[in-house]
Amino acid sequence: MPQRLLIPFGGAAPSAHHLGKAHLGGKGANLAEMAGIGLPVPPGFTIPTTLCALYYEAGGRLPDDLKALLPEGLAHIEKVVGMEFGSATNPLLVSVRSGARVSMPGMMDTVLNLGLNDVTVEGLATRSGNARFAWDSYRRFIQMYGDVVLGLDHYLFEDALELMKDDRGANLDTDLTAEDLKALVGQYLAIVENETGKPFPQDPTDQLEGAVAAVFGSWRSERAAVYRRLNDIPESWGTAVTVQAMVFGNMGDTSATGVAFTRDPANGDRLIYGEYLINAQGEDVVAGIRTPHYLTLAARERAGARGLSMEEAMPVVFAELAEMFKRLETHYRDCQDIEFTVQENKLWLLQTRAGKRTAKAALKMACDMVDEGLIETDEAVLRVDPAVLDQLLHPTLDPKAARNVLAVGLPASPGAASGAIVLDSATAAEKASQGEDVILVRIETSPEDIAGMHAARGILTARGGMTSHAAVVARGMGRPCVSGAGGISIDMDSRILRIGGRELAEGTVITLDGASGEVMEGRVPTVEPELSGDFARLMQWADGHRRMKVRANAETPEDCTTAVRFGAEGVGLARTEHMFFGEQRIVHVRAMILGTEEAQRRSALEKLLPSQRGDFEAIFRIMSGLPVTIRLLDPPLHEFLPAREAEMVEVAETTGLSVAAVRRRVAELHESNPMLGHRGCRLLISYPEIVEMQARAIFEAALAVGGNIVPEIMVPLVATARELELVKGVIDRTAEAVFEASGKRLDYSVGTMIELPRAALRAGEIAGAAEFFSFGTNDLTQTTLGISRDDAARFLGEYVEAGIYPRDPFVSLDVEGVGELVALAAERGKAARPALKLGICGEHGGDPATIAFCEEQGLDYVSCSPWRVPIARLAAAQAALRNKQGGKQAG
Ligand code: PEP
Ligand code: MG
Repeated sequence: MPQRLLIPFGGAAPSAHHLGKAHLGGKGANLAEMAGIGLPVPPGFTIPTTLCALYYEAGGRLPDDLKALLPEGLAHIEKVVGMEFGSATNPLLVSVRSGARVSMPGMMDTVLNLGLNDVTVEGLATRSGNARFAWDSYRRFIQMYGDVVLGLDHYLFEDALELMKDDRGANLDTDLTAEDLKALVGQYLAIVENETGKPFPQDPTDQLEGAVAAVFGSWRSERAAVYRRLNDIPESWGTAVTVQAMVFGNMGDTSATGVAFTRDPANGDRLIYGEYLINAQGEDVVAGIRTPHYLTLAARERAGARGLSMEEAMPVVFAELAEMFKRLETHYRDCQDIEFTVQENKLWLLQTRAGKRTAKAALKMACDMVDEGLIETDEAVLRVDPAVLDQLLHPTLDPKAARNVLAVGLPASPGAASGAIVLDSATAAEKASQGEDVILVRIETSPEDIAGMHAARGILTARGGMTSHAAVVARGMGRPCVSGAGGISIDMDSRILRIGGRELAEGTVITLDGASGEVMEGRVPTVEPELSGDFARLMQWADGHRRMKVRANAETPEDCTTAVRFGAEGVGLARTEHMFFGEQRIVHVRAMILGTEEAQRRSALEKLLPSQRGDFEAIFRIMSGLPVTIRLLDPPLHEFLPAREAEMVEVAETTGLSVAAVRRRVAELHESNPMLGHRGCRLLISYPEIVEMQARAIFEAALAVGGNIVPEIMVPLVATARELELVKGVIDRTAEAVFEASGKRLDYSVGTMIELPRAALRAGEIAGAAEFFSFGTNDLTQTTLGISRDDAARFLGEYVEAGIYPRDPFVSLDVEGVGELVALAAERGKAARPALKLGICGEHGGDPATIAFCEEQGLDYVSCSPWRVPIARLAAAQAALRNKQGGKQAG
């Protein structure tokens, strides 16, 4: 069989897993690998991801040469299992599944039981000796195929099923007899014909082609697109399709299906974690339609659940399963998320993948695996996604606070969240966009809810287990989630949540504790996170592998304290204009800006000097000898001019001007484009007395604090070397004056921000006057793209959606464009002054992808908001490790 279009696995097929996840998709690669190490995997074949692009190029049609090859793929399966696709006596059934390079749980489509029709169903019934199973499989197939391939609403089928159950007095699906299910199939076939105007496709080959096409098609479904956007997955990757022999978990009481994690994905504990259902198929567990039972006796006892665990109900198969988990962990050296099926006491593995986990679990697993000798510390560092640390840096519920518990569900994804109840996804997204904290409450979530789940602070569902869609997706997003809170109900007509004997209207505030499963009334207070234990160990390993330093953007004592607590190695940007926002000071800044005469400005600056000096002393003390970069004033005028009448009156009183004069002066100073206006070094050149005051405050503070402080003074918004030289001249003269008056000296350095394209281009000359460059990528992005940073949010979403920029360029550096300017400036600057120190202090300094780029460019440090410092430390370590591995990208 040609390797290009269909890649077989199982039976005697050679393992093709070396082709990798990019080609085979995660599922295809792992199935090939599992089959290769002798695990019981039903045979099948994978259609590689490259075919997805061909499908779309052909306008959403399967290429003819692929169609021509499908029978060969089926022949491979038929040979291994000894059954025949479409046979009236011994029919082979297959599943058709998606599998992208990285797992996108529940985002794309799957069709099970394919190959059934009015004839093969009889063959299946005779062959299996189980007519009920055959008809149950057929009705499931029609429903899934109808939903996924024919685009019919699944409620059409579910309503018919519910009616049938009511009619027969059946509580559960499993109470329906073969005859009932046969009658239901008749109804389902009629539904398809009524809705589509065509009979249900009876030819198994047509069914297969339809299903493969539908799976490719689901790559561009809205929910998949949203998921990709949230997880930075490029659309160009495409999905692979895996066609695999069906095995059946719904063949009676010796059959079952389940999902398991080899460790607890919520807290990382080393124990088998998962759920199963007897006499069921996989989608029953994953979709959260039936609430499944626990795998282990210990878990069942802990939860106080009644349904027998798999360990009790199927002890022999369970022991076999536990053994396989061990083999899989040793082989993959990571926690696995496994789907399995038991068909008449025979165990089959359908899928394995690295288990999605919470930040807490990721840390614990990484540390435990180092202790177990499974991985080295460098691998542990690479294992933890820096972005998820965010979950750990935020507060959890105060254990001492009173809790009015309304209900308890499953602790599906840890963390604390308070917010207003919203009952649908669209409302959640809308309210969150208005800045409201919301909790999305649903009977069960479906993949369509993804945008609402992302917008919400937390998620509460009435149905679904620990591996339901809601739970898996919430853990991946780091959203606290309580699932399967059985006692709650939702009245969508009056938009009321009934919970714990209460009726809460939409909008009422509740709190979720995703670690205990509790749902509480009102907002429960929180406490600061614990940064010791596994977190501290991993960060220590990261620091050992890191080359770049990590500093913080901070100018208040609180922010500096947080920065130090999170391990910042200095301040990379103290924005001095932010020090003037306080009530007492802003009026003097305004007086200074509005002053028409130097004397007026000097008088205002005199009043600011003591507080500036005090600010700098506080920072130097907290940072105790670590480097501190202080940026001279850079106030975009629109942020500082008095706007309201009361503010004008206040300035008038301070300056002795009339209110009318203040108003006139404000009008004179009005700018059309304040971001491109009289700010940064331009203001400092017009008013050198500002530089004098700030430089004096810095030097006097450093001398007062003493020790080995080497202040780094940074000049903003420089475009030409001359600008920098002028400002540096004032700084140097002020230094001499201060040193002379005090009789003490200290070292200091003067550098500049590189935040304008011209500065990047002329970096060679500018480096003549600068001892360091700090890339101000906020302004550099604004001015390179010509997109106002203040207005971008209104339309950048569309830009990202349309693929114009892969991510918001104000969040993650536009490496191709802005990045080229950074690279060029670094190169030209270093050529002119080899000892030039290089850093970044735009918001991008805390973004892992940008940090990787900074490592490649050989920057000395990144600087980011204090809360992101741990993320930056980990990301910088990963970047260094990957660079060392020859730029090999993990994942
Ligand atoms: C920048 O432009 O990237 C920068 C750090 O300065 P600010 O955000 O204060 O303009
Ligand atoms: Mg700037």
